[in-house]
Amino acid sequence: MSDRPLLGMTVEEMEDAMRARGLATFRGRQLARWIYLRRAADFEEMTDLSKDLRARLSRDLTITDVRELGRWVGSGGAATKYLVGLGDGSAVESVLMRYDYGYSICLSTQVGCAFACPFCASGAEGLHRDLTAAEIIGQWYLAQRRLDERGERISRLVYMGSGEPLDNYENVLDSMRLFHSSGGPGIGYRRMTISTVGIVPGIRRLASEDIPITLAISLHAPNDYLRNRLVPANRTYPLAEVLAAAAEYARDSGRRLTFEYAMIKDVNDHPDLARELGILLADLPCHVNLIPFNAVEECPWEPSDRQAIDTFERLLSMAGIGVTVRRSLGSDIGGACGQLRRRFGED
Ligand code: SF4
Repeated sequence: MSDRPLLGMTVEEMEDAMRARGLATFRGRQLARWIYLRRAADFEEMTDLSKDLRARLSRDLTITDVRELGRWVGSGGAATKYLVGLGDGSAVESVLMRYDYGYSICLSTQVGCAFACPFCASGAEGLHRDLTAAEIIGQWYLAQRRLDERGERISRLVYMGSGEPLDNYENVLDSMRLFHSSGGPGIGYRRMTISTVGIVPGIRRLASEDIPITLAISLHAPNDYLRNRLVPANRTYPLAEVLAAAAEYARDSGRRLTFEYAMIKDVNDHPDLARELGILLADLPCHVNLIPFNAVEECPWEPSDRQAIDTFERLLSMAGIGVTVRRSLGSDIGGACGQLRRRFGED
């Protein structure tokens, strides 16, 4: 008998899978503990199950069909990029980042992406398919297994890899619920961030769920004229609509919003744009992350210089907006989303 892999099932689904095989329900909880809390990769590791049961389960079931195809360490050890192979032969990337507060992992949600941002390698290929919740969780599992060797733990999840999370709403939400669930990996909603280009129906729907995650919006420009160029989704969901939906999310969730702003030299880093952004965001409970742009091969743009970033930061602060200049991790191991997978696919 075969079934879908166990990693990605809720505890209740594992219990059902055990019942369907005539086994005791508590075996499901045992499996969940081994997989989500101890990251077992083989039934043989599950030493509190009898030898016969381990043999039976390994005939019947698989733990996961995601696997590590490659791993690259960069940024002086602060970033590790994983190339994750999926059951159908495709691959996505995830990036583990080490910060002062601990480890955060940037998860992919789709193979490719439909939204074609000009600075992004994933968008250049178009959308191939959505990831399942199991494939999203599999990215965490592979990186966490490596950290287990050093007794360390991933404490934050950022849905910011290849793909637009709100374009794969159900699977992304299922993965979040499982990450948060009791018996699952035990990562709370407040430690999760969804980063979106501003899919208005998705933001509204998220506002109606009772899950207090952080909503991050890739803004990159303070007006429609410039944003249409940098974020093509803006032609479908213009800035005013995105900000209205974001305000609704902030009100309903009680969470402060995050706006991401990639600093691109001579494109969106002029001081006038900082002033315009300050006015635009003045009434929103928000924080702005300024991110030095990661250069992409196909794209002629360059990162802003330090002085332009400092000026932009100062002007936003003067406008009363909370602002941080984020470290750009991982630019030496494949930079922006999609680049590593692409190189792998070309080899
Ligand atoms: S930046 Fe995000 S939304 Fe834009 S093309 Fe890349 S993956 Fe898609």
